[in-house]
Amino acid sequence: MGALMTASMPIPGHFDPVPVPRPQVAALDGAPVDLVGLSKDEIRTALADAGLDERQAKLRAKQIWHQIYHRGATSFDAMSDIAKPQRAWFAERFVVGRPDVVLEQVSTDGTRKWLLKTPDGHDFEMVFIPDADRGTLCVSSQIGCTLNCAFCFTGTMRLVRNLTAGEIVGQVMLARDSLGEWPSQPEGRMLSNIVMMGMGEPLYNFDNVRDALRIVMDGDGLGLSRRRITLSTSGVVPMMVRAGEEIGVNLAVSLHAVTKEVRDEIVPLNRKYGIEELLEACAAYPGANNARRITFEYVMLKDRNDSDDDARELVRLLRKYKLPAKVNLIPFNPWPGTAYECSDEDRVRRFSDIVFEAGISAPIRRPRGRDIMAACGQLKSAAEKKSRAELDRISAEKQRELEAVAEPGLG
Ligand code: SF4
Repeated sequence: MGALMTASMPIPGHFDPVPVPRPQVAALDGAPVDLVGLSKDEIRTALADAGLDERQAKLRAKQIWHQIYHRGATSFDAMSDIAKPQRAWFAERFVVGRPDVVLEQVSTDGTRKWLLKTPDGHDFEMVFIPDADRGTLCVSSQIGCTLNCAFCFTGTMRLVRNLTAGEIVGQVMLARDSLGEWPSQPEGRMLSNIVMMGMGEPLYNFDNVRDALRIVMDGDGLGLSRRRITLSTSGVVPMMVRAGEEIGVNLAVSLHAVTKEVRDEIVPLNRKYGIEELLEACAAYPGANNARRITFEYVMLKDRNDSDDDARELVRLLRKYKLPAKVNLIPFNPWPGTAYECSDEDRVRRFSDIVFEAGISAPIRRPRGRDIMAACGQLKSAAEKKSRAELDRISAEKQRELEAVAEPGLG
């Protein structure tokens, strides 16, 4: 999640500044087609392309959709409303996939982290955070990230590729498998909320994130209300209105600093889309109001962004743009090799008090899953660990490649 600076100035430093289109994973020739992640219409078309007549394709698509997303079926054998011989026909041509689980870890506080693998062999992670009144799944949108936010472990990993819609919705399916939450229930689910805050910037993988979330919100399927889903961006300004219009979930913004100097350092995308521009885009976010406030994430970094003046400036900015806002104060979660320290407890409390006293909610988040490196900003798949020198070399190469091509549409 994350967003940087104006037009075509070269951007110094270690990050990939533009949303470079990355190839999708192509289905292997002759391999069965995975139906997870396809819309109802796409499933119907796939069935028709495989030889069913139009009426049959429509009927079966509806049944299969219900079986996959309501009952959690992972094989055609389990689809009892389809005649046996036809189940075998489907099984030869299609699969209902899940990401492979490489490792599942459970924290002492009940947080669970899964290391997952794509069919083309890349690792990524998802995290489930249980609370007394809710359970939140933190879903990844990319393998790695281009944005290199300074406080984030994922940001030290290069972008490998975008996750497909199937791989994004597959995380939710897998979590439901693991929690034993099939068939879908309208109420009382452990997995009650979703945040697009795992690895990657969701607005740099817009189409796949949108398609996946539409499946998650579909009333005949996973049936999660848009009010229980939050998309977190580092501030990809040109995509924010579209996100509101085409996805319509709650918005969270990784703000983390209130001055250009510090935000340029912490969230380098700020060099492209500055704080004021970002807050204007927040004010224009469709559907934001006092009942559906925008969350501003603010990681507390000792002596970098945690002074009383910073807190007052935050209040001034949120007021200036009349934002229906809530601020989440996140104690920094350290990871190996980071240059930052977490602010002292007293400092975090004082910061929170200043914002609260101005009438803006500013709760301090309790760190979750630190012992298994599942906390905010700590995600990074084991297979992708690279030395800083190697990352700098890759980044410099990437920068040269990028300078050789015209910047695409965004920004
Ligand atoms: S916080 Fe991490 S994962 Fe999110 S955009 Fe920044 S570098 Fe990427």
